[in-house]
Amino acid sequence: LQFDQAYDQIDGDELAGPSTDEEISQWVSEVIPMFSYEGVSMESLVYYPKSVEFEFYRTGYEHNHILGRANCLSLDITLNARYANPASSLNGDLGSLSTLVHELAHAQGICMNTSYYDSEVSAQLVTVELLSSLANKGNRLAFAAVVAEMRDMMYAAAWYEAMESGDDAQFQKLTEAIYDTPFEQAQRDKTIRRWTGDEEKLQEILLSYNYLPMVAVLDGMGTGFIDGVQLPINMHCSWVDFYAYIDPEASTECIEEPLFIDDLIYVMEHVDELAAGFNE
Ligand SMILES: [Zn+2]
Repeated sequence: LQFDQAYDQIDGDELAGPSTDEEISQWVSEVIPMFSYEGVSMESLVYYPKSVEFEFYRTGYEHNHILGRANCLSLDITLNARYANPASSLNGDLGSLSTLVHELAHAQGICMNTSYYDSEVSAQLVTVELLSSLANKGNRLAFAAVVAEMRDMMYAAAWYEAMESGDDAQFQKLTEAIYDTPFEQAQRDKTIRRWTGDEEKLQEILLSYNYLPMVAVLDGMGTGFIDGVQLPINMHCSWVDFYAYIDPEASTECIEEPLFIDDLIYVMEHVDELAAGFNE
């Protein structure tokens, strides 16, 4: 709710996510070095994508529900071209920035399910921390994007919880509080109609993109870090396992670095002030 209030306060048409090739390449340059700065990747091993292109995805499902894709081997990234189409309701949506950062996280090597958290949960966690770090450096669009992302993730996590527990009443209240304009309500109802009868798939999506990352964040708020995130900086640990396999005498000690979420915690703790001071 706190993030929704912040979102309502800062949302405006002048706040647009990247929607042209030029803007995308500007954001790529701005974001990529942060992966090593924030301890996600090794300095010498940050990867620039080979290409980032807007693509119109073919099927109706993809058109509506796939926001971006990263090829982990070729390092080609595509973003849903609706972000770039002035005729689309997604045009200029703040989510294009979060989606870009998420796909860039995959391109850094967050692609395998070798850690406690799988690659989707890990990419989501890295995305919100990275956007927060840009925000704490004064980047307003990154702040707006992380507020929008956290708002959506928290809502989706609550949705997952309501499906699990069957307790719909409280979730209804939250829904009414968050989707407070007629167009938001129309979108929301359409989403519910789309997923009726397909609850299993919905629950899967809510679980790995939203519920698990949110629980991890709430747990990590006390310690300042999250263990078990798949991070490229820990890549050498899988080599240690490999050597242990071919030489049982070899040292098997490899301490994996956690994901430090100091920036996300700062944003969460100061979201009201930051939103209030957004236009100063
Ligand atoms: Zn992903």
